[in-house]
Amino acid sequence: MSGEKTSVGLTEEYLSRIDDKNKDIFAYLSITKDLALEQARRVDEKVKNGEKIGLLEGIPGSIKDMILVKGVRATAASKILDNYVAPYDATVIERLREEGAVFLGKANMDEFAMGSSTENSAYGVTKNPHDPSRVPGGSSGGSAASVAADMAVWSLGTDTGGSIRQPASFCGVVGLKPTYGRVSRHGAIAMASSLDQIGPFAKTVEDAAIVLSAIAGEDKFDATSARSWTKSYQDYLTGDIRGLRIGIVKEYLDNLAGDMRESIEKVIDSYKSLGAEIVEVELPHSKYALPVYYIIQPCEVSSNLARYDGIKYGIRIDDNMNTDIENGDIDMPRTLLETYLDSRRYGIGSEVKRRIMLGTYALSAGYYDAYYLKAQKVRALIRKDFEEAYKKADMILTPTTPTPAFRIGEKADDPLQMYLADIFTITANIAGVPAISVPGPSVETDGKSASRRMPFGFQLMGKWFDEEGILCAADAYEKMKNK
Ligand code: GLN
Repeated sequence: MSGEKTSVGLTEEYLSRIDDKNKDIFAYLSITKDLALEQARRVDEKVKNGEKIGLLEGIPGSIKDMILVKGVRATAASKILDNYVAPYDATVIERLREEGAVFLGKANMDEFAMGSSTENSAYGVTKNPHDPSRVPGGSSGGSAASVAADMAVWSLGTDTGGSIRQPASFCGVVGLKPTYGRVSRHGAIAMASSLDQIGPFAKTVEDAAIVLSAIAGEDKFDATSARSWTKSYQDYLTGDIRGLRIGIVKEYLDNLAGDMRESIEKVIDSYKSLGAEIVEVELPHSKYALPVYYIIQPCEVSSNLARYDGIKYGIRIDDNMNTDIENGDIDMPRTLLETYLDSRRYGIGSEVKRRIMLGTYALSAGYYDAYYLKAQKVRALIRKDFEEAYKKADMILTPTTPTPAFRIGEKADDPLQMYLADIFTITANIAGVPAISVPGPSVETDGKSASRRMPFGFQLMGKWFDEEGILCAADAYEKMKNK
C-alpha cells in the first residue's frame, strides 16, 4: 500500500456501493459494517506501524451465508435458521481473519445451497448485475453478483454440483471449485458432505488464486481435508502453457446451441494459439452424472438436514409461537413430534423438502441397494472416466453452462429444467476433481431483450489436487484476452 488509500477508505467505498446497489441487486442478506470497519482499522494500524502487509490484508469480500462467521447471523437463506447466530468461525474464516481480509457481509444463496438461480432463497431473489431481469445463477448467486457489481473484491461460495462455477459463468467472474479435500469444510453448513467444497470468486484468476492459498490446507476439524498448500501463485501463474494437453469432449460441444458453441470454439482457438495441444477425450459415463447426483445429493441432504428439528437450531414452532402457520389447521397444544413437524413444515422451503423426501425414500429399507448403492457404483465409473481421460490430457475444457443466465421465473416451476443447468459442472463434484469457470466470449441472449449480450464462462477441470495447473491455464487465457 502506498499510503494513498487506507483500508478504512477502501472498505467505506465498498460499503457505500453496497448501500447504493444492494436494494436492487440483493446480493447481500446481511451487511457486517462494524466488523468490516474494525478489521480495516486494524490493517491501517499495522501499516502505520510499518508492519509487513499480506496480499489479502485490508481487502474486502463477501461470504456465502452458509459459512459461519462468529457472532454473525447465518441463515443459509432458510427460514428455519432465521434467528441463528454462528457460535464459531469456519476454518476458512479463521484463516482469512489471520490474513487480514475484511468481511463486508453475508451473501444471498438458494436455501441450503439447493438450486441454480437463488430463486430458492427464503429472503428474495438476487438479480444478475448484467441484466436485472435475469438470475445470477446459484446457489452462490449472491457471491457472484457481489463481485460482478463491485460490491466485493472476492467472495467465498460453496459448490456441490456447480454452485460456484455456474453463477460465475452467469455473472462474468472467475469461480473455482477446489479438489474435494483441498479446503476444510468445517463451519460450512453441511449440504451433501461427499460433494461440498468451499471456493473463491474474484474478478481475476490471480485474485482467486490468492484467496485459495489463504483458505486451502489440512484442518484437524475436517477429516477429509488433505495436503497443505505451499506454493505461491507467482510460481505457477507463469503465462506459459506451451505443450499443455487440453482435452475436449466432443458430445459436450455437439449439443451446444449456436452462439455458445462459437464462444467455446473461440476459447479453443485461443488455447491453440497459446501453444496448447487440443486432444479429444471421452467421458462416456457423464450422461449418468445428473441422475447419480440426484440420488446421492438428496440422500446426504436427508441425513444432514435432520438436525433442523426446531429444537437444536433456529426457529421453533411451539405453543408460544405466533407465526402465520397459526392460521392453518394445526391443533394446539403440540406434542414433541408435532413441534418437529410444524417447525420443519414452516421453516423449510419446497425445493429442500423435495430433496429430503427423495433422499429419505431412496435410503429406505428395500430401496437402498436399488438407488443409493447403484448410484455409488456409477459414481466410481465416472471417476474412472476421468482417470482414463487424464492419461491423454492434462485438463479438460468444457462450457461451464449450457446457456447464459436465464430469466427470473423462467425455470422456477420446473425442477428438471433447473437441474439441467448443472449438466457440465456436476461431474467434477462426483469425481472430486478441481474445476474453474473463467469468462469467455460473451453470447447473444434469446433476443427478447434486444441484442443484449451476456457473459458466458468456460470450465477447466483438472487432475486431483492440480489447482495450479488449471489456474495457470485460466490465467494464460485471461492475460491474452486482456492484451
Ligand atoms: N444446483 C445443484 C443443486 O441444486 C447444485 C447446487 C450446489 O452446487 N450447491 O443441488
